[in-house]
Amino acid sequence: MAGWMRLAAIAAAVGLAGPACAQKPEDTEAHSPVPPVVTPGAQPGAPPSDAIVLFGGADLREWVAVRDKGPAGWSVEDGTLVVKLAAGNIETKRTFGSYQLHIEWRVPAGVAGSGQLRGNSGVFLASTGPGDAGYELQILDSYRNPTYVNGQAASLYKQAPPLANAMRPPGEWQVYDVVWTAPTFAPDGALKTPAKVTAFHNGVLVQNDVALAGPTRFIGKPAYAPHGRAPIKLQAHAGGGPVSFRNIWVRPLD
Ligand code: MG
Repeated sequence: MAGWMRLAAIAAAVGLAGPACAQKPEDTEAHSPVPPVVTPGAQPGAPPSDAIVLFGGADLREWVAVRDKGPAGWSVEDGTLVVKLAAGNIETKRTFGSYQLHIEWRVPAGVAGSGQLRGNSGVFLASTGPGDAGYELQILDSYRNPTYVNGQAASLYKQAPPLANAMRPPGEWQVYDVVWTAPTFAPDGALKTPAKVTAFHNGVLVQNDVALAGPTRFIGKPAYAPHGRAPIKLQAHAGGGPVSFRNIWVRPLD
């Protein structure tokens, strides 16, 4: 007699028989859909088999300049992507809904400046327009560099400070792993569900399922305007750098 049957028989004998005892372990097993097989990256941080590599060290074919959608004018040096301030922000040619993102970045050793003017860049998790329009996950040298906490590295700029400061010193690579849940809107444009962000900085949880009040605003309170799929955008900021990037990949979740 199977274990569950024996238990059911005992339960019946002592008067516990009822709907709960009629259930079997198999009743709560799910057998479909079967999760797809994904081969993990060979090393931690390497792109898994189903990732879209946005920058692998060779070229900028996945990127365009934000201002004219022409070629992205940042430079590739020794396999890293280096911000070129004069070229402005760059964004992906592809658009995304919700996704998992891995991106590595570095503030140069010996960076000058302080506060927001020290290794400033940013990842706009969805670009909602030209310039800095979008939802910014801040990039900044926050290693012994105080600034307003909702503007330090790994903050959701002006909305949510990070849960911890997990910075490595300038000159070392930093890693962001991000889960972006895109906002949804009703047909009349009203917000149905807000954007949400979970993020790790160098493996440390810094944003835990944080709901955003809208795209980032430098001045004033954020508010939503309806939008659909959007590019991922990187910021060319005048505030001390230049910041470099490497090993950027994304796994769409919708
Ligand atoms: Mg920034």
